[in-house]
Amino acid sequence: MDSVSPLWGICSFDSVSDRLIDCRAKGRLPENPRSIIVACFPYLLPEKEYKNSNVSKYAVVTDYHDVAVKRLQNACSGLADLYPSNRFVPFADNSPIPEVSAALASGLGVLGKNSLIITEKYGSYVFIGEIVTNLELDAHDSAVSECIGCGKCISACPSRAIGNGVDTEKCLSAITQKKGELSEKEKALMKECGCVWGCDICQDICPMNKNAAATTIEEFLSAPIPLLTENTDLVGRAYAWRGRKVIDRNLSVFKENNL
Ligand code: SF4
Ligand code: SF4
Repeated sequence: MDSVSPLWGICSFDSVSDRLIDCRAKGRLPENPRSIIVACFPYLLPEKEYKNSNVSKYAVVTDYHDVAVKRLQNACSGLADLYPSNRFVPFADNSPIPEVSAALASGLGVLGKNSLIITEKYGSYVFIGEIVTNLELDAHDSAVSECIGCGKCISACPSRAIGNGVDTEKCLSAITQKKGELSEKEKALMKECGCVWGCDICQDICPMNKNAAATTIEEFLSAPIPLLTENTDLVGRAYAWRGRKVIDRNLSVFKENNL
């Protein structure tokens, strides 16, 4: 990993193998996987970048999939040079690995009540990516530690989505991504949150995020788009995959009643 990358750690493949996600990416796993190198990519920008923002902080920066995969691919090339008889396969988000579980097992942070990992330096404002390999590495394999459990995220969540984990259907991250018409209740929740895409309320209120450090990743620092409008070029943005129709629908929610 290079110097602006991340926090990273290692867990054994076995530590998460009973919770693999059944997706097409599963077919890219190396045969006989033994270890997972997990990396956290911090994305928090200096506070001034969020002035007048109407999207979740993770979506203000350029699409992390491109950034993470490029860096992980570079790391894989270096590792393949060192260990030519082994395989190293990068994943980010589109992954069969339960990424938060792998990051927790790798000792990268604690589990928040909002189901996010909270790292010591960057709080929960991190993207997770990983390299799966058939090389046996020295794995951390720690037991899951939990946040301080203050409950502030539970009280602050407008959707009441946090309980025993997060009810993803109720969460505004999912509501702002789904297709079709939104209910009046969903629109009201969006207005309460103030985001056209995603929601940061449970992260922003978390005391364990109070001193989260800003990212040093150049790609994230260089091209922030805090305000999503009808004219925003979606290319290279985390919301591009969902397409213009859903974005325009979300924007229209804030036009109703002049909001
Ligand atoms: S992102 Fe928003 S809606 Fe989702 S759990 Fe957190 S506070 Fe609730
Ligand atoms: S707000 Fe409190 S309960 Fe929620 S994740 Fe942060 S420390 Fe845990």
